[in-house]
Amino acid sequence: MDYEIVIGLEVHAQLLTKSKMFCSCSTDYINAPPNTHVCPVCLAMPGVLPAINKKAVEYTVMTALALNCTIPEYTKFDRKSYFYPDLMKGYQISQYDAPIGKGGWLTIEGNGAKKRINITRVHLEEDVAKLWHRGGYSLIDVNRSGVPLMETVSEPEISSPEEARDYLIKLRNILRYLGVSTCNMEEGSFRCDANISIRPRGSKEFFPKVEVKNMNSLKGVYQAMEYESKRQRKVFEEGGELVQETRGWIDEKGITVTQRTKEYADDYRYFPEPDLPPLVFDKAWVEEIRAKLPELPEARRERFVTQYGLPLYNANILTNSRALADYFESCLKLMNLSKAKMLSNWLLGDFSRLLNATNTEIENTKVSPEHLAEMFSLVDNGTISGPTTKAVFEEMFHSGKRASDIVAGKKLSQISDTTEVRKVVKQVIADNAKAVSDYSSGKQQALTFITGQVMKTTRGRANPTLVGEILMQELGGK
Ligand SMILES: [Zn+2]
Repeated sequence: MDYEIVIGLEVHAQLLTKSKMFCSCSTDYINAPPNTHVCPVCLAMPGVLPAINKKAVEYTVMTALALNCTIPEYTKFDRKSYFYPDLMKGYQISQYDAPIGKGGWLTIEGNGAKKRINITRVHLEEDVAKLWHRGGYSLIDVNRSGVPLMETVSEPEISSPEEARDYLIKLRNILRYLGVSTCNMEEGSFRCDANISIRPRGSKEFFPKVEVKNMNSLKGVYQAMEYESKRQRKVFEEGGELVQETRGWIDEKGITVTQRTKEYADDYRYFPEPDLPPLVFDKAWVEEIRAKLPELPEARRERFVTQYGLPLYNANILTNSRALADYFESCLKLMNLSKAKMLSNWLLGDFSRLLNATNTEIENTKVSPEHLAEMFSLVDNGTISGPTTKAVFEEMFHSGKRASDIVAGKKLSQISDTTEVRKVVKQVIADNAKAVSDYSSGKQQALTFITGQVMKTTRGRANPTLVGEILMQELGGK
């Protein structure tokens, strides 16, 4: 039988606010000693009251708008109770039936085909503490507890591991463009749980779904979805029974294992948070946020094609990273617009190669847009030539020096002095009698060889056009 895969994703992103969701503790806890970013509120001391972080609400509204959601006039927070001891209060403040954003979508583009994935909701909650399980006892670090956490829930409309990956890349890209989260999966600021089930192709029925957790990379999500769809198909085909459960992804082994059978929403005993007022959104405030939304990846890509004449392929890769697209535009501001394609090729070629090889993010590169633009101006005015440019750039990349300083220090500038070039050409002709006679008898490759010797002698610095002209004169060529 032919089966189809049904996947829904729940993505949690920590928001880039300075303080936590309901108290004034700093969210910058990553390298802090355990339990140093805490206060009576996030430690749930008796008698304390939470206060809502306005910036976190604003970021969530921004995201919901960017994901084409409706922003209801009214929203509220609810208590979600569960038995796992990672919150000091014994419950999590989340949102149940009145989320900040409802009914949106985003578009994924795998294999050139566009597909809209509907988004059920975007809501706001608080992150939980970290538990460290040791032999026979557990330790708790409350630093992370209370950090604003935004959850985006998709409809179960994702039909393959590839689509799941495309959806995550797209969502991450949008959040980064909005500047609301670092979306760093390794650091846990962007986390994904997946609900997956399979059914006979064409069926409208939903079979018991499995929730898969603990995937901390895009690759992990992809592999877990692939593993889980195969596992479920096997259970089906062997006549077994699929049960609704939560499974954990074990990255080292590449498998999922049963964690627990699924609690249903009722088990969480949601009820409205009595310590926080419901929020009523001022329409004008929402529209103000909408007006301030930055240009999003798709729009920017289209603009790169129309405004700069970039091939779609280049525009796509550049705009997949806001930082790379920003860098590109900063450089281009200092250059002639006709250089846009050359610049994009350079960024996607040599520059990206060095970034990858040194594991450097473009934000941290030592080559400023000014320095890169200066290097291209040296190419344009003939100070450096093709092969030298590559070497100069490598040194700029590693040392952070300006191209002009590197060229001056190493005497790398192009030799365009006729007398000097002629001297080298004559020497090469004298030293390579065989090649010269080959050329005279009509072998064109011999000329390539002789030219190569001239360039070698000048360490690539001779002006290639001039070398060609002088060689013709000296060889009495055609
Ligand atoms: Zn606190």
